[in-house]
Amino acid sequence: MAYHALIPAAGTGARFGADLPKQYLMLHGKPVLQHAIERLLAQFPLERVYVAIADDDALFDAMIRADDRVTALRCGGTTRSASVCNAVAKMTGVAVDDWIVVHDAVRPCLDPDASLRLQRELDADDVGGLLALPVTDTLKRVDAGGRVVRTESRDGLWRAQTPQMFRHAVLQRALAQPGRDGWTDEAHAVEALGLRPRAVPGHASNVKITYPDDLALAAAILAATVSR
Ligand code: C5P
Repeated sequence: MAYHALIPAAGTGARFGADLPKQYLMLHGKPVLQHAIERLLAQFPLERVYVAIADDDALFDAMIRADDRVTALRCGGTTRSASVCNAVAKMTGVAVDDWIVVHDAVRPCLDPDASLRLQRELDADDVGGLLALPVTDTLKRVDAGGRVVRTESRDGLWRAQTPQMFRHAVLQRALAQPGRDGWTDEAHAVEALGLRPRAVPGHASNVKITYPDDLALAAAILAATVSR
């Protein structure tokens, strides 16, 4: 079966607070989204990379160097899962058991070992799964006033990353269910079908850029790993 990638890149980056959406901020000489596209193309045997952008996106064409394996779809929705759902509906030439590899536009440091692990561990899987990391910090429940209410158990808790990789038919069925806007990743939609995505150990360097400090961290990770 073939692999197709989908990058939701229609967010506005409200929490980051920059003038540009964070996927277009410059990092090591190129936009964050360019890193994500190039890493996916280098690390997965992809037929195509679909990038879901906002209808009125004026930056993709101006800033992204896209080869002929990259297709921008102007189908962004009001939430990440709406953007993914709209883009999946527009993909062409995809078989039911092909893999759809969904990766955040704002994770520019994806490492090859984790990507290979994801492909190997899911190879014979009917459902799919995601990169994730076991929680190592102690977890506190904090009230609106900033006071600790209690300590939560971290047993069995993992932090979800991307890529998240599912069979096309499974992902389509999952995203067609009601409740979509409450899901912040594809695995949640697949769980709602009663299926159990596989959690594959990722790497801490696969940071998601949400706040300005994350951009500095990503720059440090790239500086340390690109020269390796
Ligand atoms: O907002 P958040 O940081 O969770 O966004 C994760 C990814 O989802 C980003 O790549 C962002 O561009 C994308 N997204 C989207 N459509 C939205 C909101 C977020 O494609 N409406």
